[in-house]
Amino acid sequence: MNRSFDLVIVGAGIVGCMVAYFSRQVLDRRRVLIVDHGFVASGTTGHSPGHCHPQGFDARQRDLTDRSIAFFEAAAPKLPPALFRRKRLFGVVARERAASVVGSYVRGQPRIADADRARQICGSLGLTIDPGQDIHCDGFTFFGQPVAIAHHLAKSFVSEGGSLWEGRHVSGIEEDGSRWRLVLADGQTVSSERVVVSIGPWLSGSALAAPFKEVPFRRKKVCALHVYAELPEDAPLIYFHDDDSYLMPRDDLGYWIFSFASPDWDCALSPASLVIDERDRQIALSVLKKYRDDMVELATGGRLGCDSYAPDFNPGAWPDASGRVVLAGLGSGYGFRLSPAVAADALNLLFPGADVRTERGLE
Ligand SMILES: Cc1cc2nc3c(=O)[nH]c(=O)nc-3n(C[C@H](O)[C@H](O)[C@H](O)COP(=O)(O)OP(=O)(O)OC[C@H]3O[C@@H](n4cnc5c(N)ncnc54)[C@H](O)[C@@H]3O)c2cc1C
Repeated sequence: MNRSFDLVIVGAGIVGCMVAYFSRQVLDRRRVLIVDHGFVASGTTGHSPGHCHPQGFDARQRDLTDRSIAFFEAAAPKLPPALFRRKRLFGVVARERAASVVGSYVRGQPRIADADRARQICGSLGLTIDPGQDIHCDGFTFFGQPVAIAHHLAKSFVSEGGSLWEGRHVSGIEEDGSRWRLVLADGQTVSSERVVVSIGPWLSGSALAAPFKEVPFRRKKVCALHVYAELPEDAPLIYFHDDDSYLMPRDDLGYWIFSFASPDWDCALSPASLVIDERDRQIALSVLKKYRDDMVELATGGRLGCDSYAPDFNPGAWPDASGRVVLAGLGSGYGFRLSPAVAADALNLLFPGADVRTERGLE
Protein backbone atom coordinates (compact mmCIF):
# COMPACT_ATOMS: atom_id res chain seq x y z
CA MET A 1 0.00 0.00 0.00
CA ASN A 2 1.38 3.40 -1.01
CA ARG A 3 1.84 5.67 2.03
CA SER A 4 3.58 8.60 0.31
CA PHE A 5 1.70 11.12 -1.80
CA ASP A 6 2.06 14.56 -3.39
CA LEU A 7 -1.41 15.57 -2.19
CA VAL A 8 -3.68 14.14 0.49
CA ILE A 9 -7.28 15.39 0.74
CA VAL A 10 -8.93 14.73 4.11
CA GLY A 11 -12.73 14.53 3.75
CA ALA A 12 -14.67 13.13 0.79
CA GLY A 13 -17.69 15.44 0.91
CA ILE A 14 -18.52 17.49 -2.17
CA VAL A 15 -15.57 19.85 -1.54
CA GLY A 16 -12.99 17.06 -1.15
CA CYS A 17 -14.36 15.22 -4.20
CA MET A 18 -14.17 18.43 -6.27
CA VAL A 19 -10.55 18.95 -5.15
CA ALA A 20 -9.76 15.33 -6.05
CA TYR A 21 -11.38 15.80 -9.46
CA PHE A 22 -9.64 19.09 -10.28
CA SER A 23 -6.27 17.75 -9.09
CA ARG A 24 -5.97 16.22 -12.58
CA GLN A 25 -5.15 19.78 -13.78
CA VAL A 26 -1.99 19.91 -11.63
CA LEU A 27 -0.87 16.40 -10.66
CA ASP A 28 -0.63 12.80 -11.74
CA ARG A 29 -3.66 11.25 -10.01
CA ARG A 30 -1.55 8.32 -8.88
CA ARG A 31 0.13 10.73 -6.44
CA VAL A 32 -3.16 11.86 -4.87
CA LEU A 33 -5.13 10.29 -1.97
CA ILE A 34 -8.57 11.21 -0.64
CA VAL A 35 -9.42 9.77 2.77
CA ASP A 36 -12.71 9.86 4.72
CA HIS A 37 -13.75 8.53 8.10
CA GLY A 38 -17.14 7.59 6.66
CA PHE A 39 -17.65 7.18 2.93
CA VAL A 40 -18.07 9.49 -0.06
CA ALA A 41 -20.75 12.14 0.63
CA SER A 42 -21.74 10.59 3.98
CA GLY A 43 -21.30 13.91 5.83
CA THR A 44 -23.16 17.19 5.34
CA THR A 45 -23.22 16.67 1.58
CA GLY A 46 -25.53 13.68 2.10
CA HIS A 47 -28.21 15.95 3.59
CA SER A 48 -28.19 18.67 0.96
CA PRO A 49 -31.09 18.80 -1.50
CA GLY A 50 -28.69 20.50 -3.91
CA HIS A 51 -30.13 23.93 -4.61
CA CYS A 52 -27.66 25.96 -6.70
CA HIS A 53 -29.07 29.43 -6.29
CA PRO A 54 -27.36 31.66 -8.89
CA GLN A 55 -27.23 34.69 -6.61
CA GLY A 56 -24.40 36.38 -4.73
CA PHE A 57 -24.90 38.96 -2.01
CA ASP A 58 -21.41 40.49 -2.41
CA ALA A 59 -18.67 40.61 -5.04
CA ARG A 60 -16.82 37.61 -3.57
CA GLN A 61 -19.95 35.45 -3.57
CA ARG A 62 -20.91 36.51 -7.07
CA ASP A 63 -17.45 35.44 -8.27
CA LEU A 64 -17.70 32.05 -6.46
CA THR A 65 -21.21 31.57 -7.86
CA ASP A 66 -20.24 32.51 -11.40
CA ARG A 67 -17.26 30.13 -11.51
CA SER A 68 -19.14 27.30 -9.82
CA ILE A 69 -22.18 27.46 -12.08
CA ALA A 70 -19.79 27.63 -15.07
CA PHE A 71 -18.50 24.23 -13.91
CA PHE A 72 -21.94 22.70 -13.43
CA GLU A 73 -23.23 24.05 -16.76
CA ALA A 74 -20.19 22.70 -18.62
CA ALA A 75 -20.39 19.38 -16.74
CA ALA A 76 -24.16 18.85 -17.14
CA PRO A 77 -24.08 17.38 -20.68
CA LYS A 78 -21.68 14.69 -19.43
CA LEU A 79 -23.81 13.83 -16.36
CA PRO A 80 -27.04 11.78 -16.32
CA PRO A 81 -29.86 14.31 -17.01
CA ALA A 82 -31.34 14.33 -13.50
CA LEU A 83 -28.05 15.20 -11.78
CA PHE A 84 -28.03 18.90 -12.67
CA ARG A 85 -30.97 20.78 -14.11
CA ARG A 86 -32.66 24.13 -14.38
CA LYS A 87 -35.87 25.16 -12.64
CA ARG A 88 -38.10 28.20 -13.00
CA LEU A 89 -37.62 30.67 -10.17
CA PHE A 90 -39.97 33.12 -8.47
CA GLY A 91 -39.03 35.27 -5.49
CA VAL A 92 -40.80 37.37 -2.87
CA VAL A 93 -38.94 40.40 -1.52
CA ALA A 94 -39.62 43.68 0.30
CA ARG A 95 -40.16 46.43 -2.26
CA GLU A 96 -37.30 48.58 -0.98
CA ARG A 97 -34.83 45.68 -1.46
CA ALA A 98 -36.27 44.34 -4.71
CA ALA A 99 -33.92 46.13 -7.12
CA SER A 100 -30.76 45.14 -5.29
CA VAL A 101 -31.90 41.52 -4.89
CA VAL A 102 -32.78 41.22 -8.56
CA GLY A 103 -29.42 42.79 -9.45
CA SER A 104 -27.51 40.22 -7.42
CA TYR A 105 -28.27 37.28 -9.73
CA VAL A 106 -25.37 36.08 -11.88
CA ARG A 107 -27.53 33.75 -14.04
CA GLY A 108 -31.20 33.59 -14.95
CA GLN A 109 -31.69 37.31 -14.38
CA PRO A 110 -35.21 37.74 -12.88
CA ARG A 111 -37.34 40.88 -13.17
CA ILE A 112 -39.93 42.49 -10.93
CA ALA A 113 -43.51 41.63 -11.89
CA ASP A 114 -46.00 44.47 -12.29
CA ALA A 115 -49.08 44.46 -10.05
CA ASP A 116 -51.28 42.45 -12.47
CA ARG A 117 -48.62 39.82 -13.10
CA ALA A 118 -47.84 39.60 -9.37
CA ARG A 119 -51.53 38.95 -8.63
CA GLN A 120 -51.67 36.28 -11.33
CA ILE A 121 -48.46 34.60 -10.01
CA CYS A 122 -49.74 34.61 -6.42
CA GLY A 123 -52.98 33.02 -7.64
CA SER A 124 -51.26 30.28 -9.61
CA LEU A 125 -48.73 29.49 -6.86
CA GLY A 126 -51.24 29.78 -4.00
CA LEU A 127 -49.11 32.47 -2.38
CA THR A 128 -50.10 35.21 0.04
CA ILE A 129 -47.72 38.17 0.16
CA ASP A 130 -47.54 41.42 2.09
CA PRO A 131 -48.64 44.66 0.30
CA GLY A 132 -45.08 45.94 0.78
CA GLN A 133 -43.56 42.98 -1.04
CA ASP A 134 -42.81 42.46 -4.73
CA ILE A 135 -42.57 39.26 -6.74
CA HIS A 136 -39.75 38.56 -9.14
CA CYS A 137 -40.35 36.31 -12.12
CA ASP A 138 -38.84 35.09 -15.42
CA GLY A 139 -35.66 33.92 -13.71
CA PHE A 140 -34.28 30.44 -13.28
CA THR A 141 -32.29 28.52 -10.75
CA PHE A 142 -30.54 25.12 -10.68
CA PHE A 143 -30.82 21.85 -8.76
CA GLY A 144 -28.04 19.31 -8.50
CA GLN A 145 -27.84 15.89 -6.85
CA PRO A 146 -24.88 16.38 -4.44
CA VAL A 147 -24.46 12.72 -3.45
CA ALA A 148 -24.54 11.41 -7.01
CA ILE A 149 -22.24 14.18 -8.26
CA ALA A 150 -19.72 13.51 -5.45
CA HIS A 151 -19.75 9.80 -6.32
CA HIS A 152 -19.37 10.60 -10.02
CA LEU A 153 -16.28 12.74 -9.30
CA ALA A 154 -14.79 10.17 -6.91
CA LYS A 155 -15.32 7.37 -9.41
CA SER A 156 -13.65 9.35 -12.17
CA PHE A 157 -10.72 10.15 -9.84
CA VAL A 158 -10.24 6.48 -8.89
CA SER A 159 -10.61 5.28 -12.50
CA GLU A 160 -7.65 7.50 -13.42
CA GLY A 161 -5.42 6.00 -10.73
CA GLY A 162 -6.28 8.17 -7.69
CA SER A 163 -6.49 6.53 -4.26
CA LEU A 164 -9.69 6.67 -2.17
CA TRP A 165 -9.64 5.33 1.37
CA GLU A 166 -13.04 5.23 3.10
CA GLY A 167 -13.65 4.32 6.73
CA ARG A 168 -10.29 5.80 7.76
CA HIS A 169 -10.28 8.58 10.36
CA VAL A 170 -7.41 11.09 10.30
CA SER A 171 -6.66 12.00 13.90
CA GLY A 172 -3.59 14.22 13.58
CA ILE A 173 -1.30 16.22 11.33
CA GLU A 174 2.40 16.86 12.01
CA GLU A 175 5.06 18.76 10.10
CA ASP A 176 7.85 16.41 9.00
CA GLY A 177 10.65 18.45 7.41
CA SER A 178 9.34 19.66 4.06
CA ARG A 179 6.45 17.17 4.19
CA TRP A 180 3.40 16.46 6.36
CA ARG A 181 2.64 13.31 8.29
CA LEU A 182 -1.01 12.41 8.76
CA VAL A 183 -1.82 10.08 11.62
CA LEU A 184 -4.78 7.74 11.14
CA ALA A 185 -6.91 6.43 13.99
CA ASP A 186 -5.85 2.88 13.15
CA GLY A 187 -2.23 3.79 13.93
CA GLN A 188 -0.98 4.05 10.33
CA THR A 189 0.65 7.20 8.98
CA VAL A 190 0.68 8.77 5.55
CA SER A 191 3.22 11.26 4.24
CA SER A 192 2.39 14.03 1.80
CA GLU A 193 3.92 17.18 0.33
CA ARG A 194 0.63 19.00 0.48
CA VAL A 195 -2.68 18.56 2.30
CA VAL A 196 -6.25 19.79 1.81
CA VAL A 197 -8.44 19.69 4.93
CA SER A 198 -12.10 19.53 3.82
CA ILE A 199 -13.85 17.93 6.79
CA GLY A 200 -16.96 20.13 6.90
CA PRO A 201 -18.46 20.61 10.39
CA TRP A 202 -16.04 18.13 11.97
CA LEU A 203 -13.41 20.89 11.84
CA SER A 204 -14.57 22.26 15.21
CA GLY A 205 -12.74 20.22 17.81
CA SER A 206 -10.52 18.34 15.32
CA ALA A 207 -6.72 18.26 15.57
CA LEU A 208 -6.77 19.09 11.85
CA ALA A 209 -7.95 22.62 12.71
CA ALA A 210 -4.64 23.36 14.47
CA PRO A 211 -2.88 24.89 11.41
CA PHE A 212 -5.81 27.31 10.95
CA LYS A 213 -5.96 29.09 14.29
CA GLU A 214 -6.29 32.42 12.46
CA VAL A 215 -9.43 31.36 10.60
CA PRO A 216 -12.51 32.09 12.71
CA PHE A 217 -15.23 29.55 11.96
CA ARG A 218 -18.29 28.24 13.73
CA ARG A 219 -20.71 25.39 13.34
CA LYS A 220 -24.44 25.89 12.78
CA LYS A 221 -27.45 23.68 12.36
CA VAL A 222 -28.95 23.64 8.86
CA CYS A 223 -32.44 22.25 8.45
CA ALA A 224 -35.46 22.04 6.19
CA LEU A 225 -38.99 20.67 6.46
CA HIS A 226 -40.55 18.21 4.03
CA VAL A 227 -44.02 19.29 2.94
CA TYR A 228 -46.28 16.62 1.48
CA ALA A 229 -48.46 19.01 -0.53
CA GLU A 230 -49.56 18.68 -4.14
CA LEU A 231 -46.63 19.05 -6.54
CA PRO A 232 -47.77 20.41 -9.91
CA GLU A 233 -45.73 19.33 -12.90
CA ASP A 234 -42.92 21.82 -13.58
CA ALA A 235 -43.47 23.48 -10.16
CA PRO A 236 -40.96 26.35 -9.70
CA LEU A 237 -38.69 27.16 -6.79
CA ILE A 238 -40.03 30.06 -4.70
CA TYR A 239 -37.50 32.11 -2.76
CA PHE A 240 -38.59 34.20 0.25
CA HIS A 241 -35.71 36.68 0.42
CA ASP A 242 -36.95 38.56 3.50
CA ASP A 243 -37.00 35.34 5.52
CA ASP A 244 -33.92 33.58 4.13
CA SER A 245 -36.18 30.66 3.17
CA TYR A 246 -37.36 28.89 0.06
CA LEU A 247 -39.75 26.22 -1.18
CA MET A 248 -38.12 23.72 -3.49
CA PRO A 249 -40.23 21.20 -5.42
CA ARG A 250 -38.67 17.72 -5.34
CA ASP A 251 -40.81 15.83 -7.81
CA ASP A 252 -38.30 12.96 -7.71
CA LEU A 253 -38.97 12.50 -3.97
CA GLY A 254 -42.66 13.48 -3.93
CA TYR A 255 -42.50 16.46 -1.55
CA TRP A 256 -41.58 20.12 -1.26
CA ILE A 257 -38.52 21.06 0.74
CA PHE A 258 -39.00 24.15 2.86
CA SER A 259 -35.57 25.47 3.75
CA PHE A 260 -35.41 27.98 6.61
CA ALA A 261 -32.77 29.59 8.83
CA SER A 262 -32.22 27.77 12.12
CA PRO A 263 -30.47 30.04 14.64
CA ASP A 264 -28.74 27.13 16.39
CA TRP A 265 -25.02 28.02 16.47
CA ASP A 266 -22.24 25.80 17.90
CA CYS A 267 -24.55 22.79 17.86
CA ALA A 268 -23.30 19.35 18.85
CA LEU A 269 -22.71 16.74 16.15
CA SER A 270 -24.18 13.77 17.99
CA PRO A 271 -27.43 12.37 16.53
CA ALA A 272 -29.07 12.55 19.97
CA SER A 273 -28.67 16.31 20.26
CA LEU A 274 -28.81 17.27 16.60
CA VAL A 275 -32.57 17.41 16.08
CA ILE A 276 -35.17 19.74 14.57
CA ASP A 277 -36.46 21.13 17.87
CA GLU A 278 -39.53 23.10 18.87
CA ARG A 279 -37.85 26.46 18.24
CA ASP A 280 -36.82 25.39 14.72
CA ARG A 281 -40.35 24.27 13.89
CA GLN A 282 -41.86 27.46 15.27
CA ILE A 283 -39.53 29.58 13.15
CA ALA A 284 -40.16 27.48 10.04
CA LEU A 285 -43.92 27.30 10.40
CA SER A 286 -44.32 31.01 11.17
CA VAL A 287 -42.65 31.80 7.83
CA LEU A 288 -44.52 29.12 5.90
CA LYS A 289 -47.82 30.30 7.41
CA LYS A 290 -47.29 33.81 6.02
CA TYR A 291 -46.89 32.63 2.44
CA ARG A 292 -48.55 29.20 2.17
CA ASP A 293 -50.83 28.71 5.17
CA ASP A 294 -52.27 25.58 3.53
CA MET A 295 -48.87 23.85 3.74
CA VAL A 296 -48.39 24.14 7.50
CA GLU A 297 -50.34 20.99 8.41
CA LEU A 298 -48.58 19.10 5.65
CA ALA A 299 -45.05 19.88 6.87
CA THR A 300 -44.70 16.58 8.65
CA GLY A 301 -41.11 15.64 7.87
CA GLY A 302 -37.71 17.21 7.61
CA ARG A 303 -33.96 16.84 7.23
CA LEU A 304 -31.05 18.38 9.06
CA GLY A 305 -27.33 18.45 9.49
CA CYS A 306 -24.83 21.09 10.36
CA ASP A 307 -22.22 23.02 8.46
CA SER A 308 -19.11 25.05 9.18
CA TYR A 309 -19.62 28.77 8.69
CA ALA A 310 -17.17 31.50 7.68
CA PRO A 311 -17.55 34.87 9.45
CA ASP A 312 -18.70 36.60 6.23
CA PHE A 313 -20.80 33.58 5.16
CA ASN A 314 -18.56 33.00 2.16
CA PRO A 315 -17.05 29.54 1.78
CA GLY A 316 -13.47 29.51 0.57
CA ALA A 317 -9.91 28.22 0.90
CA TRP A 318 -7.38 29.35 3.51
CA PRO A 319 -3.66 28.42 3.60
CA ASP A 320 -1.73 27.65 6.78
CA ALA A 321 1.53 29.47 7.55
CA SER A 322 3.59 27.04 5.43
CA GLY A 323 1.33 27.46 2.39
CA ARG A 324 1.34 23.66 1.97
CA VAL A 325 -1.82 22.89 3.94
CA VAL A 326 -5.10 24.43 2.89
CA LEU A 327 -8.47 24.47 4.60
CA ALA A 328 -11.24 24.21 1.98
CA GLY A 329 -14.94 24.59 2.69
CA LEU A 330 -16.77 26.44 5.47
CA GLY A 331 -19.83 25.87 3.31
CA SER A 332 -21.96 28.30 5.36
CA GLY A 333 -25.17 26.48 4.47
CA TYR A 334 -24.63 26.48 0.70
CA GLY A 335 -21.29 24.78 0.21
CA PHE A 336 -22.55 22.43 -2.50
CA ARG A 337 -23.35 25.18 -4.96
CA LEU A 338 -19.98 26.91 -4.48
CA SER A 339 -17.83 23.78 -4.18
CA PRO A 340 -16.26 23.91 -7.67
CA ALA A 341 -14.79 27.41 -7.16
CA VAL A 342 -13.70 26.61 -3.59
CA ALA A 343 -11.89 23.48 -4.80
CA ALA A 344 -10.15 25.35 -7.62
CA ASP A 345 -9.08 28.09 -5.19
CA ALA A 346 -7.65 25.47 -2.78
CA LEU A 347 -5.48 23.98 -5.53
CA ASN A 348 -4.39 27.40 -6.79
CA LEU A 349 -3.19 28.25 -3.26
CA LEU A 350 -1.24 24.98 -3.01
CA PHE A 351 0.20 25.19 -6.53
CA PRO A 352 0.92 28.88 -7.24
CA GLY A 353 0.77 29.60 -10.96
CA ALA A 354 -1.28 26.47 -11.69
CA ASP A 355 -4.43 28.37 -12.78
CA VAL A 356 -6.91 25.57 -12.06
CA ARG A 357 -10.16 26.47 -13.79
CA THR A 358 -13.76 25.42 -13.24
CA GLU A 359 -15.29 26.24 -16.60
CA ARG A 360 -13.73 23.21 -18.28
CA GLY A 361 -16.40 21.09 -16.58
CA LEU A 362 -15.89 17.33 -16.74
CA GLU A 363 -13.06 16.38 -19.05
C1 LIG B 1 -30.26 20.12 5.55
C2 LIG B 1 -29.20 20.76 4.67
C3 LIG B 1 -29.57 21.39 3.49
C4 LIG B 1 -28.60 21.98 2.67
N1 LIG B 1 -28.99 22.52 1.47
C5 LIG B 1 -28.05 23.00 0.63
C6 LIG B 1 -28.43 23.43 -0.68
O1 LIG B 1 -29.59 23.34 -1.08
N2 LIG B 1 -27.46 23.94 -1.48
C7 LIG B 1 -26.15 24.02 -1.08
O2 LIG B 1 -25.32 24.51 -1.85
N3 LIG B 1 -25.77 23.59 0.14
C8 LIG B 1 -26.68 23.09 1.00
N4 LIG B 1 -26.32 22.64 2.24
C9 LIG B 1 -24.94 22.83 2.67
C10 LIG B 1 -24.02 21.81 2.03
O3 LIG B 1 -24.57 20.52 2.19
C11 LIG B 1 -22.62 21.87 2.69
O4 LIG B 1 -22.13 23.20 2.67
C12 LIG B 1 -21.63 21.00 1.92
O5 LIG B 1 -22.15 19.71 1.69
C13 LIG B 1 -20.33 20.90 2.72
O6 LIG B 1 -19.49 20.00 2.03
P1 LIG B 1 -18.08 19.62 2.64
O7 LIG B 1 -17.42 18.74 1.65
O8 LIG B 1 -17.38 20.87 3.08
O9 LIG B 1 -18.42 18.84 4.00
P2 LIG B 1 -19.01 17.38 4.27
O10 LIG B 1 -19.97 16.96 3.23
O11 LIG B 1 -19.48 17.36 5.68
O12 LIG B 1 -17.75 16.44 4.11
C14 LIG B 1 -16.76 16.34 5.10
C15 LIG B 1 -16.26 14.91 5.09
O13 LIG B 1 -15.14 14.83 5.97
C16 LIG B 1 -15.17 13.58 6.61
N5 LIG B 1 -14.37 13.71 7.82
C17 LIG B 1 -14.61 14.51 8.89
N6 LIG B 1 -13.61 14.41 9.78
C18 LIG B 1 -12.71 13.54 9.27
C19 LIG B 1 -11.46 13.05 9.72
N7 LIG B 1 -10.90 13.44 10.86
N8 LIG B 1 -10.81 12.11 8.94
C20 LIG B 1 -11.33 11.73 7.77
N9 LIG B 1 -12.50 12.19 7.28
C21 LIG B 1 -13.18 13.09 8.02
C22 LIG B 1 -16.66 13.31 6.85
O14 LIG B 1 -16.91 11.92 6.97
C23 LIG B 1 -17.29 13.91 5.61
O15 LIG B 1 -17.54 12.94 4.59
C24 LIG B 1 -27.25 22.01 3.08
C25 LIG B 1 -26.87 21.40 4.27
C26 LIG B 1 -27.83 20.76 5.06
C27 LIG B 1 -27.40 20.08 6.32
